[in-house]
Amino acid sequence: MAIIVQKFGGTSVADAEKIRQAARRVIERMQAGYQVVVVASARGHQTDELVRDALELNPNPPKREMDQLLSTGEQQAVSLFAMALDAMGYRAISFTGGQISMLTDGVFSKAQIKSIDSEFIRRELDQGRVVIVTGFQGVDEYGNVTTLGRGGSDTSAVALAAVLKAEECEIFTDVDGVYTTDPRLFKKATLLEEISYDEMLEMASLGAGVMHIRSVAVGKRYNVRIRVRNSGNDNPGTIITHEAPQMEGILVSGATIQKDMAKIGLSGIPNVPGTAARVFARLAEARVVVHDIIQTELGPEKANLSFMVAVPDLPKAREVVEELKSELGCDGVFVRDDIALVSAIGVGMRSQYGVAERMFGALAQAKVNIDSITTSEIRISCAVDRNDVEKALEAVCLAFELDKPARQRRTT
Ligand code: ADP
Ligand code: ASP
Ligand code: MG
Repeated sequence: MAIIVQKFGGTSVADAEKIRQAARRVIERMQAGYQVVVVASARGHQTDELVRDALELNPNPPKREMDQLLSTGEQQAVSLFAMALDAMGYRAISFTGGQISMLTDGVFSKAQIKSIDSEFIRRELDQGRVVIVTGFQGVDEYGNVTTLGRGGSDTSAVALAAVLKAEECEIFTDVDGVYTTDPRLFKKATLLEEISYDEMLEMASLGAGVMHIRSVAVGKRYNVRIRVRNSGNDNPGTIITHEAPQMEGILVSGATIQKDMAKIGLSGIPNVPGTAARVFARLAEARVVVHDIIQTELGPEKANLSFMVAVPDLPKAREVVEELKSELGCDGVFVRDDIALVSAIGVGMRSQYGVAERMFGALAQAKVNIDSITTSEIRISCAVDRNDVEKALEAVCLAFELDKPARQRRTT
């Protein structure tokens, strides 16, 4: 029998009526002959509330205890979901990550999944039960509860779909699918019928919160067909899949912003082999996640080196960089903590020209100054003043006609 994985986000299981509505979707699939595995997130904003409770007692809570606490939101959601199905006459059983042996590494608050006992789940499905699994959590080799990072239920769902070789992984959320940009920030954003894994990876890493980035990476690696759709209607949503030739005809598929970014750097670093390696080894040791590294030579002896970090990582990054300044004998440290990034993403950039010119032209017309620019094969990002970022996003969206359906856009 074919298996479908259905993941319901927080808003899709927020109250009893929403849970019943979600349960009806499960029943529809069962009646169509599928075995169904459900992954549920904590209801509503429960995870945020738990974070607040923890911080009220301890501004720096032990990471293990934080994971232990946050995992409880999902545990409530899955048992309530199973009760709803039972009341509707269907057999269902809920499990925590630990109970299905979802083994992770031991990195609390950003654990990575290592393995899942798919045979155990199959046996339950073969008994005619709906299997309902907590999103966002697993256990490490010592039995400690671990969590996968905020938004991580998507990753639980796609990983389950991968090991169960599910026909599709449906991600039910509060919007109709993946839009050209966050519809809350740009009202005229249009829905994408499909998007490639690579574009979705870039969009997720550059601030599109609709999918947890690692879920897309797992989907790509294991060929999971992912469909993002609205739990409140029957619209078909967006398919995330492998790149297809028609995707290249579209210059830019989406745009994103990351608001809370900071730029930090060292001026006048010694222009000798090993300097950059030393800087980034020290940042990695301090577990600072670094984005968009830029190094420029200032003649034969010196260079400037800068990179971006998310604002919460800035104090750690600054400490490391200050230490390195005296160790390496640099001229100075510079920091800008009021930066935001606006990015345009599209696999079409690989084969078409004029993207950079169109993006910079749009920002110039909107009178937005560009602090720095970084590119990859399928994206261009500009760092701008945080106060300008909404204006910048709108300018970029209009320049690439992200307010129109893909087939109505100019391609060059
Ligand atoms: P869930 O709780 O269902 O996992 P999330 O809040 O994690 O929901 O993700 C859905 C939200 O992602 C939407 O409400 C939307 O504001 C936001 N979002 C950001 N970028 C995009 C985008 N490009 N397309 C669709 N939604 C987006
Ligand atoms: N409940 C978790 C969070 O709010 C996981 C998720 O929703 O995906 O981050
Ligand atoms: Mg989410």
